[in-house]
Amino acid sequence: MSVAPVTLGTATTGSRFVMLLLGSGELGKEVAIEAQRLGVHVVAADRYANAPAMQVAHESRVLSMLDPKALRALLDEVNPNVVVPEIEAIATDVLVQWESEGKRVVPTARAVALTMNREGIRRLAAETLGLRTSPFRFADTEDEVRAAASEIGFPLLVKPIMSSSGKGQSFVKTPDYLGHAWSYAQEGGRAGGGRVIVEGFIDFDFEVTLLTVRHAGGTSFCPAIGHRQVKGDYHESWQPQPMSPAAQAESERIAKAVTDALGGHGLFGVELFVKGDTVYFSEVSPRPHDTGMVTLASQELSEFALHVRAILGLPIPSIECFGPSASHVLLVTGESNAPEFVIAPDALAAPQTSLRLFGKPHILGSRRLGVALARAATTDEARLKARAVIDGVHTVVAVCKGEPA
Ligand code: AMP
Repeated sequence: MSVAPVTLGTATTGSRFVMLLLGSGELGKEVAIEAQRLGVHVVAADRYANAPAMQVAHESRVLSMLDPKALRALLDEVNPNVVVPEIEAIATDVLVQWESEGKRVVPTARAVALTMNREGIRRLAAETLGLRTSPFRFADTEDEVRAAASEIGFPLLVKPIMSSSGKGQSFVKTPDYLGHAWSYAQEGGRAGGGRVIVEGFIDFDFEVTLLTVRHAGGTSFCPAIGHRQVKGDYHESWQPQPMSPAAQAESERIAKAVTDALGGHGLFGVELFVKGDTVYFSEVSPRPHDTGMVTLASQELSEFALHVRAILGLPIPSIECFGPSASHVLLVTGESNAPEFVIAPDALAAPQTSLRLFGKPHILGSRRLGVALARAATTDEARLKARAVIDGVHTVVAVCKGEPA
């Protein structure tokens, strides 16, 4: 497929091409940096000031992106050339309307709407596309959870349909625990409780994120990323995750089917469970994925660079990898409005290691504040090196300091 010429402008001038980032976390920060490198004018939005991406954007805005009126007012005011959602919690009807007015949403407003809750994407994958998933039922009451559980069998998972990072999610081994799982899901859901998905547990060999990029020249896949989750939240990832040729082919088939159905241009994180040669579709993010932060070390074009290239219509001839790599999160618990990091002398002493601190200005409870990256001869060695970087970072969060001058 041939790629048409692309005109790029210059940020801050009359020729600027404006990218509005909805969500300004650590993933948005890297997207903003990649966009900046190509002269894109970046406006970063989030619900609080000084969010990570705002610190590297040309402009920022603070609003609740779940508030349809506030979001519409933002779109009208900024009038971006492209809207790039970075989070799931967005009033997606506003994006659908915006797109229907001839404006651009990455990858498409429908993709953002379908993936903002587990139900839309699960029904698309399992029912419309006929892809293999865990057995599942949706439930609106505790009684319906019990009915779903008796059909699915134990062990199972109960998850709010609107949640991420394991919030409100329970692993349930016996019926006695179903009531607690229902209540916990009601507290953990992003939209204040409601419907849950009851999913049969898949005893997978490993799980992967298959980063899939739809661009002007077609669809490309990054080598599979393996990862380890703790209570539904990512702690470390590595690339490549070896798998059988049959599982690899099936993973790519599933990723292509799902991303084609969602459409548009951009990078997607397709989450899959692999058992032998059998592959189950789990979820998809129509944007860079947290486990994909490993590509900051492992690939010439990181997932963020690929996303921006695809969005701008630039070619992606190949995805060059530097070798086995890993990422390990800096997950911190405490309370502070001025986190500090004491980096031990040996933390970054090993070659091919690096640390990214996101610049999140507040912490209350548990929060991901950074990530360590490492390359090595094997992914096991890279994992140990990334872990050693984190072990050398002491985070001081038990203090609240005055506002900066
Ligand atoms: P999710 O929030 O759906 O991405 O789930 C977070 C993590 O929980 C996944 O990455 C898996 O490690 C685990 N998990 C979720 N659903 C299942 C399932 N049906 N079977 C086994 N593990 C699961």
